[in-house]
Amino acid sequence: MILKNALVLQNSTSEVKKADLRIEDGKISEIGKIEEDGVNLSGKLIMPAFYNTHTHAAMTIMRGISDDNPFDVWLFKKVLPIEDKLNGKMVYYGTMLAMMEMASKGIAGFVDMYFFLDDVARAVEDFGMRAFVTRGLVDEGGDDNGRLEENLDFARRWNGKGLIKAGFGPHAPYSCSKEYLKKISDVAKVEGLPVHIHLYEASWEREKYDYREVLKIFEDVKLIVAHAVQFEDDEIRDLAKENIFVSHNPSSNLKLGNGVAKIAKMLKEGVNVSLGTDGAASNNSLDIWHEMRLATLLQKMKDPESMKIHQALEMASESGAKVFGINAGRIEIGMDADLIVIDLDKPHYKPIDRIKSHIVHSGMASDVFATMVAGRWIYYDGEFPTIDESKVVEEFEREYEVLMQGDGS
Ligand SMILES: [Zn+2]
Repeated sequence: MILKNALVLQNSTSEVKKADLRIEDGKISEIGKIEEDGVNLSGKLIMPAFYNTHTHAAMTIMRGISDDNPFDVWLFKKVLPIEDKLNGKMVYYGTMLAMMEMASKGIAGFVDMYFFLDDVARAVEDFGMRAFVTRGLVDEGGDDNGRLEENLDFARRWNGKGLIKAGFGPHAPYSCSKEYLKKISDVAKVEGLPVHIHLYEASWEREKYDYREVLKIFEDVKLIVAHAVQFEDDEIRDLAKENIFVSHNPSSNLKLGNGVAKIAKMLKEGVNVSLGTDGAASNNSLDIWHEMRLATLLQKMKDPESMKIHQALEMASESGAKVFGINAGRIEIGMDADLIVIDLDKPHYKPIDRIKSHIVHSGMASDVFATMVAGRWIYYDGEFPTIDESKVVEEFEREYEVLMQGDGS
């Protein structure tokens, strides 16, 4: 495939230039003037795709369920009782709908924590997106009801199948015992797979456990840390490790009243920080454009120099690719072709010579014309070429009805 006549932003620090791209076997194989016919993308910009490094995709089925409650009420009174009633089909279509939303907003891959993992993985396979799939693990009352076993069985069957990667998803140190976390760490080490956990999201978590103990338990595994809101200045250095990847979820953190993570400080200390949306029950959109801008503005609240354009772009793209451990996030020969095409023919992209600033501060998800994952379009000009869009929406709505009837509301 040859993409022609577009402007190209190769990475967060490079300048926008005019170039054609050749895509072969899912990778970028040529950048420059190509004298062959191809897809004409004049008036558009090609840049590295975005990654959503923390979500619970199937929670689209609970979007808007609890908009004005504190975190504990949201989780224990609203979300968990409904999750008890979910089945695999609901999770499949909830995940499908989430991927439609994400693909249309320029997201090439997501890190998930949920259950009914086979249904999540089948949806991901059918859609053609990248996903890091982990099972939510808890052991309340000292019994995990076979969840870790289930997670392990899933990981062995699905890790590395197509674009799917597997990991382990201990929910949080307040819902998992220390012994259980150690067991998970041991299994993850043996399997060579990452662990995805919520850490220091709410302020009350500081009284329940010490984050140092958790980092110590997982010191030998790749650790994807969601939220990290409650870390103090002098503690942030502890997150600056090669094996730790912080997923910053500013909308969810604000909406649930958990606060603002010290992201500028983290970047200064060399912490790997990428962006996540969290689930649609706490955000409520799966929109990395929105998170990128909000993340920037929140850090600028007290110091406008604290977050630069290139840092925001890097968190959304290249740093997300690093979480997946893939050779993507930049447009270079030999790298995976995870790309987005942005329609520049909009008033908010003028003047045209400051495009990078516009992407962060005036751009929006609806500017995405197309999204490519590993050389294949998963969204193109308003359509989803890999799925039957109307069937997915219809089935999603039917499953939602069934779920709500079961809830009696
Ligand atoms: Zn979460």
